[in-house]
Amino acid sequence: MIWDQLTSEQINGLDRGIPVLLVVAATEQHGPHLPLATDRLIGEFFSRKLHEEMPSQLLVLPAVAVGCSDHHMGFSGTLSISQESFRNQVGDIIRSVIQHGFHKIILLNSHGGNQAIGQVLMEQLGHEYPQVHLVMTTWWRVAIKRLYEITETGPGGVGHAGEFETSLMLHIAPDLVIQKLIFPKTNRPTFPWAESDMLRGSGASYFRNMRAMTVTGVFGDPTAASAPKGQQITDAVITALQQVVKDLYELK
Ligand SMILES: [Zn+2]
Repeated sequence: MIWDQLTSEQINGLDRGIPVLLVVAATEQHGPHLPLATDRLIGEFFSRKLHEEMPSQLLVLPAVAVGCSDHHMGFSGTLSISQESFRNQVGDIIRSVIQHGFHKIILLNSHGGNQAIGQVLMEQLGHEYPQVHLVMTTWWRVAIKRLYEITETGPGGVGHAGEFETSLMLHIAPDLVIQKLIFPKTNRPTFPWAESDMLRGSGASYFRNMRAMTVTGVFGDPTAASAPKGQQITDAVITALQQVVKDLYELK
């Protein structure tokens, strides 16, 4: 069920044990070849596919389209809210849902810059509402084992607008991908202990904005992207998310 397509009365009649899903995304530069909406389109696509698989066991909220993207502001078109705003906005949406009696909540994130503050928010809400089951995941984390089998680019290949996001966009919205502007990796090298990508964490975090990390605003290798790979990634992520929803739904 889709939260904002129901009437207030229909929401009132629902079983409060249904998991409620909130997509948190971003509106930011995605290199020369992908649109600013990439993270929102990916997050909403996953939530739509997941909902198609289990429509009566999931309640989908309207997505949060703008996230914490200060590190992308060096590139035109990026919109960003502060971490404080994110914590307030997303926190207040979740508090509203809890006030209506729902107690199983899933935050599905599609943007790296939301991860740290999202985790802080989860821990705060977890203490505020000990009776509520709160889950947060980022799509490339929830299916990480399977995604390792799918990637073909090696360390530094799956990052911002790289192999995976470009594959997903070729699958979801090929008309929005400018194929002739897909270039090989432009990652700027850093210390070995600071090298990381979507699938591989680093030994230490070393803050650099996107201008310092890349030449084009793309981190990773989009030349290895394809629409069939986007379908494989989708299958991996949806299978993993279905398990999360099922496990929460069955919790008493
Ligand atoms: Zn992205």
